[in-house]
Amino acid sequence: MGLLKNKYAIVTGAASARGLGKATAQMFAEHGATIAILDLDADAAKAAAADLGKGHVGLACNVTDKDACNAAIQTLMDSWGRIDILVNNAGITQPLKIMEIEPQNYDAVTDVNLRGTLYVSQAVIPGMIAQKSGSIVNLSSVSAQRGGGIFGGPHYSAAKAGVLGLTKAMARELAPDNVRVNAICPGFIATDITAGKLTADQQQMVLDGIPMGRAGAASDVAGCALFLASDLSAYCTGTEVDVNGGSLI
Ligand code: NAD
Repeated sequence: MGLLKNKYAIVTGAASARGLGKATAQMFAEHGATIAILDLDADAAKAAAADLGKGHVGLACNVTDKDACNAAIQTLMDSWGRIDILVNNAGITQPLKIMEIEPQNYDAVTDVNLRGTLYVSQAVIPGMIAQKSGSIVNLSSVSAQRGGGIFGGPHYSAAKAGVLGLTKAMARELAPDNVRVNAICPGFIATDITAGKLTADQQQMVLDGIPMGRAGAASDVAGCALFLASDLSAYCTGTEVDVNGGSLI
């Protein structure tokens, strides 16, 4: 307990009740951090922040809108004076095959997963450089590492592979300022993004490919985010950590 005492943390896309972002925000709050949840809907973001206890903040922010990202971060800087941790968690999937992807599909998926990661990071980086400390954690996916995945879509794999490249480039550029940037690659985790997307046969096929024989829980990913956000990982930057029950063995 207390790994994030006196830290100020942002988690994007954390309003979804069963999501990885909410579980991460919850675990960070239990470890003493003050949290801001950024999500599409202001009421949902505020309600999710209230669930964490007193003093946490929920703000509307569409991560694909650079001005909205800058405005949200400015609001937090005015109130907190610093931001120590950013978890770029907002993401969407589309269960399409390669020939089904239309320009609007490609734009939507790359905008949220990849462009959003860039925009929110750009908004927090100047403050982190000035204070000579910060940790940015980006949500990639096993879909980036092995292609496909039944429900993500090839454009999702491409966007999440882009997140890995962005993570490493940001890590290299920001390392001299003690701002660390790492990625998490979750495997099959039971959340709203996966719920109801697979038939019983497909679910069994997915489970057969997981040596640990079970889907991950949101808390499995949150624990990894806690490690990367905290000083426990003080010498880790540019890494990608697999949270997939052994799926790539
Ligand atoms: P989820 O669907 O439960 O939650 C996603 C959240 O992102 C929602 O609250 C949604 O409102 C928000 N969001 C969507 N578009 C947004 C935008 N433009 N601006 C701000 N917020 C936006 O998803 P999840 O399963 O918790 O996934 C979280 C992250 O982990 C995503 O990046 C996802 O791609 C990644 N991931 C999930 C799995 C899995 O199995 N669940 C596996 C690998 C990677």
